Amino acid sequence: MTEPEEKPDLIPTKIYKCKNPECKAWVREEFGSEGQSCPMCKGPMMRSMRHLPKVQNKVKRQPKKKDPYA
Ligand SMILES: [Zn+2]
Repeated sequence: MTEPEEKPDLIPTKIYKCKNPECKAWVREEFGSEGQSCPMCKGPMMRSMRHLPKVQNKVKRQPKKKDPYA
């Protein structure tokens, strides 16, 4: 049995994408803002969705275990 390795988990993510069909620019909503202008052509952008691999934006914090014997 063979399984593909590390298949990225694609999740629907809110983005802003450029309205210009010739421009492929887009940004994640978290990195953009309302009225975001395109970083490439400075044109208007619109909200959209895109399936993107999960971002690991933060290293998982290991909860500090309280050592009762400390
Ligand atoms: Zn653009």
